[in-house]
Amino acid sequence: MSVLLLASAVFLARKGAETVLSSKLENRQICVCVDAGHGGGDPGKIGVNDELEKDINLQIAYKVKNLLEQQDVKTVMLRKQDGNLADQDAKNQKVSDMQNRVAAIEESEAQLTISIHQNSYPDPSVKGAQVFYYSESEEGRRLAETIQKSLTDRLNDGNTREAKANDSYYMLKKTPTPTVIVECGFLSNYEESALLSEDMYQERIAWAIVMGIMQYLNQ
Ligand SMILES: [Zn+2]
Repeated sequence: MSVLLLASAVFLARKGAETVLSSKLENRQICVCVDAGHGGGDPGKIGVNDELEKDINLQIAYKVKNLLEQQDVKTVMLRKQDGNLADQDAKNQKVSDMQNRVAAIEESEAQLTISIHQNSYPDPSVKGAQVFYYSESEEGRRLAETIQKSLTDRLNDGNTREAKANDSYYMLKKTPTPTVIVECGFLSNYEESALLSEDMYQERIAWAIVMGIMQYLNQ
């Protein structure tokens, strides 16, 4: 059995055991906004392997959406393809894009928002997933800490990062829901950027995020 097949088998075995969590949610109709960061003319970070953050964000966001729906959670994807949400005539596309993302979250009446991003740093040895929350949001902190622990435990890659407060990111500050930004890894790290481009690793990241969300909702 190849290493990849073995990894898949272990992953699927765990997945079976963990779906039990959703039964506790009973019939509450939970809705989660899934935001794939950047898009269109804004590629986000560019990986050392030339992969674009916007593409990886969208791939992981779709996996998060599908896994949430398997847990009977409703989802709203803020962008469904490569593009942004800016008004076409807006002078500042980035500002208009962010404003429209926040407006879409308001309209969705979702209970929480997960924004998917990839990190980058000048020192290529830096790596590891990290979750950010708005410093004024107690629920955001709880959600971020739960997802961070899920990522650390399930990826099991020696990551020692902790969920981190932030008081300036627009998505964190302006959204009506508890919102977290999940920086899934560093595109500036050779090993991690290769992993983040792999379908199987993206699936593991998405699974860890979703299990964190389910645990948060069950607490
Ligand atoms: Zn980003």
